[in-house]
Amino acid sequence: MSESGENVREIRINPIVPTESVLVATARGMRPKNAEERVERDTRAVVETCPFCRGNEERTPPQIKSYPDGDAWEIRIVPNLYPVLGDDRTQSNIAFGLQQVIDGYGRHEVVIDNASHGIALHEMTQQHLADLFSVYQQRMAELYASDRRLKYVLVFKNFGAAAGASIAHTHSQIIATPVVPENVQNEVQHSREYHKKLSHCVFCSLIDEALTYEATIYDRNSGQIRRKINVGQYVIERGQRFVAIKPFASRFEWEIHILPLQHEADFLKADRDDLDDFARVLRRTMARLDKVVGGVQYNFFLHSVPHGGEYDDCQESYHWHLEICPRTSIPTGFELGSGLFVSTVSPEAAAEALRNADIGDA
Ligand SMILES: [Zn+2]
Ligand SMILES: [Zn+2]
Ligand SMILES: [Zn+2]
Repeated sequence: MSESGENVREIRINPIVPTESVLVATARGMRPKNAEERVERDTRAVVETCPFCRGNEERTPPQIKSYPDGDAWEIRIVPNLYPVLGDDRTQSNIAFGLQQVIDGYGRHEVVIDNASHGIALHEMTQQHLADLFSVYQQRMAELYASDRRLKYVLVFKNFGAAAGASIAHTHSQIIATPVVPENVQNEVQHSREYHKKLSHCVFCSLIDEALTYEATIYDRNSGQIRRKINVGQYVIERGQRFVAIKPFASRFEWEIHILPLQHEADFLKADRDDLDDFARVLRRTMARLDKVVGGVQYNFFLHSVPHGGEYDDCQESYHWHLEICPRTSIPTGFELGSGLFVSTVSPEAAAEALRNADIGDA
């Protein structure tokens, strides 16, 4: 492993989903991908024509709920006007048979994250973010309770045009389906196999490694020390109960995962103290991203254990988390063709830059 700053050129296997791999190639001769153009963020608080702004409530389908109840709502949930395609027109980042399942008995809803039109996540208060994730929790629980055929309720957010959002007002989405999204299914399956073999949660193992200063890798055949990894370098932000980590084999250059330090498979079990600490870690992580990448467009995906009898055995092996995937470059033909992600910023260098970002007392 090179120290950050040095050139890296290697294929890394995702330890959670070994079928996924990334080519980390930071050598100077390697052609960088085209950076997505930085989009000027709409920072207005209120936009008269926006269907998601306060005062325009009649322009959305009748609301499912708001928090708090009444005209002074801060968070609001409404049905998606255009299920499946939604306001995004594309759901390419959700690779599963969405069309059929939503048409069947899935649900697709929009969460207006904040009354303020153009506010960014890191500009929201910690309390608001904790409230937002608490609202997700309540709605997820209601959806699971509403129809036992629903196996997965996915909460995700597209922020910025490159990430698929066409309505500028900050919002996220909830999709409830009778099938588990492919990438969650892969994580569930591989972490289950890992647990069967080693009686340990692979996510917990990775957190332990990330919090240890150094790990040593021995050559399988000779027993010689092959290389030492300075693993502390993958931690971006640490709270009392949560940690933000830059995955060793990230698909996206600035990808960050936030996980509970204590093993827990189910996001629905997080209590208010958990959500407060989670909100603080999320807010500070997004502030770091904003400082380093600037005006970042991203997706986030909430991954929690699926519902249904066949997932009962995953309480010990699965570990809920939030994946934050900034879109800073356009996939190259090579990536699209090979399915191998290419990262031109080494995860070590990215983590170092994020950790060193001066975000004051944010
Ligand atoms: Zn608006
Ligand atoms: Zn765990
Ligand atoms: Zn995940």
